[in-house]
Amino acid sequence: MEKTYDVIVAGSGSAAMAAATRALHHGLKVLVVEKEHQWGGTSATSGGGIWIPNHGLHQGEEDSREDALAYINAIAQGPVRADRIEAFVDNGPKMVAFLQEVGVKLHVLPGYPDYYSEERGAKASRSLFPYEINSGDVGEPVHTMREAPIRGKLFNRYAFGLDEAFALATKARGWQMIMAKIFWRYWTDREWRKKTRRDRRLTMGNALMGGLRIAFDKLGGEIWTETGLVGLTTDNGRVSGVEVERFGHRFTVAARHGVVIGSGGFEWNQSMRDRYFTVPTPANWATSPERANDGKATLAAQALGADVEFMEEGWFIPSMLMPTVGVPNTDMTHQMSFDHGRPHSICVNRLGQRFVKETASYDRFGQAMIADHQKTGSSAVVWHIFDDQFRDKYSSGGFMLKALMPDSKVPRAWWDHYIYRANSIAELAAKIDVDPAGLVESVANNNRYAKTGVDEEFARGSDAYDRFFGDPRSKPNSCIDTIEKGPFYAVPLVLGDLGTKGGLKADAQARVLDANNVPIPGLYAAGNASGSMSGLSYPGAGATIGPAMTFGFIAANAIAEGAGNQR
Ligand SMILES: Cc1cc2nc3c(=O)[nH]c(=O)nc-3n(C[C@H](O)[C@H](O)[C@H](O)COP(=O)(O)OP(=O)(O)OC[C@H]3O[C@@H](n4cnc5c(N)ncnc54)[C@H](O)[C@@H]3O)c2cc1C
Repeated sequence: MEKTYDVIVAGSGSAAMAAATRALHHGLKVLVVEKEHQWGGTSATSGGGIWIPNHGLHQGEEDSREDALAYINAIAQGPVRADRIEAFVDNGPKMVAFLQEVGVKLHVLPGYPDYYSEERGAKASRSLFPYEINSGDVGEPVHTMREAPIRGKLFNRYAFGLDEAFALATKARGWQMIMAKIFWRYWTDREWRKKTRRDRRLTMGNALMGGLRIAFDKLGGEIWTETGLVGLTTDNGRVSGVEVERFGHRFTVAARHGVVIGSGGFEWNQSMRDRYFTVPTPANWATSPERANDGKATLAAQALGADVEFMEEGWFIPSMLMPTVGVPNTDMTHQMSFDHGRPHSICVNRLGQRFVKETASYDRFGQAMIADHQKTGSSAVVWHIFDDQFRDKYSSGGFMLKALMPDSKVPRAWWDHYIYRANSIAELAAKIDVDPAGLVESVANNNRYAKTGVDEEFARGSDAYDRFFGDPRSKPNSCIDTIEKGPFYAVPLVLGDLGTKGGLKADAQARVLDANNVPIPGLYAAGNASGSMSGLSYPGAGATIGPAMTFGFIAANAIAEGAGNQR
């Protein structure tokens, strides 16, 4: 017999779990269907950053509705809609208050600048992060939550917080002590060690999703994993339930008041990437959990007449492919995150020319790769070029700094394939098929800028975002330093992504719209399954999860209001 719920939510990432938990809070009976055997989605593997302007936590800089709107309107690209932006700005703080109320505690990361820090209304206090939590508090479901990716754990084992990650990535003062503490905490926790290899500490995305799961379970939510939404049922033009697939078995489940699509983007669907993206990229350049987000729920909604928007881009991040240690024949896509902008390094295209301010946020960097590729045909893969001084201080993607991964420990098969090394810049250029004259000139220019402190081409180090990731040891410009001490290295960077930006076109109440901009009754969307609120721009750290959770929250409120259940 067909089961019936008030609300069915597809997916179990941040958008879905925010919607589900809020709907439960309104007293509705909620089912979450998750296609994978692990719940939590990309959100659980993420840094856990949540970008909410004017969040009301009274930490960090003063903010206001006006500044938030001014900023988003200044940076948004593409046909964005004012009512969606306002709905986000007005409901974000309410969503944060709700999280606090149900026990998901957040803090500001002070000084973390918005990604367009030079624009009007930009601040350095809008990125919220979850406090670390204890796996034991999540209970049994913690064992089926998505784990952090390889680079999100120290030696693919130990959990770390964002502040610890920053310190280890740059060998900041006291980094050895931080590492020792992480090991000590892990190995002395005998009770937990008997249960699992996983770390008891839940940090970043694991802390966010673990916290949400605690609230969801307390409120009586139900999750079916390995259950993918493949279709939608209707009754008189209103969405009345879902068709799901479980171990090859298809069946329907009824939803009295609404269905929320929170199933992430379509980054693992190669034919959708090929159809929509402007630069062809293989699906395995995505850095979200492998093969999970395949856009099937989006296609199901499209089959019902739903419209889509902003499908042409991902949330880009330059990334590096690298073999997975101990797992034969498997490459991993490692995010560069901030490494591409560290001193003692530059990034160049096949002509050996710089094409971007390397310190730009990862999404702006990715967009510059596309723009340069369209102009010169030379940026499908670009190169991170650095010297031995860089090796001493920083990592380049999965190629960890010397103290953690000395050259002698790099497997021989990786040299001149994943990582290139040479005794001169010209020799390096020849190895990687980059124009030697171009590269020699770009390095010489960099070395001149390192002395004067002025990047005459791209003004590297000129704004707050650049300087946040700068290194005070580099003077006079904390973002530029010489590339002069051999050996010299090159790592190829591909156009990776954190997920896709486009999806179902939804209105300010998260209702999915058809081609005539009319809401499809009973159907809602949030997160990467929906078109981005800020269009093709990435406003700040946490600006995919912040809007995802806010529109999930809005969808649940709209459903509860329709059901006469609002609290
Ligand atoms: C390493 C990493 C770090 C990141 N850090 C941050 C950060 O700090 N802040 C930030 O804002 N963004 C970050 N991002 C991006 C961010 O994680 C994603 O954009 C965000 O999590 C998307 O949330 P979502 O809820 O839309 O989808 P997801 O979290 O991806 O969840 C979607 C879920 O839906 C499931 N699903 C898919 N199809 C179906 C179906 N048909 N039926 C049922 N279930 C389905 C999937 O299996 C998945 O569990 C990061 C990404 C990565 C990879």
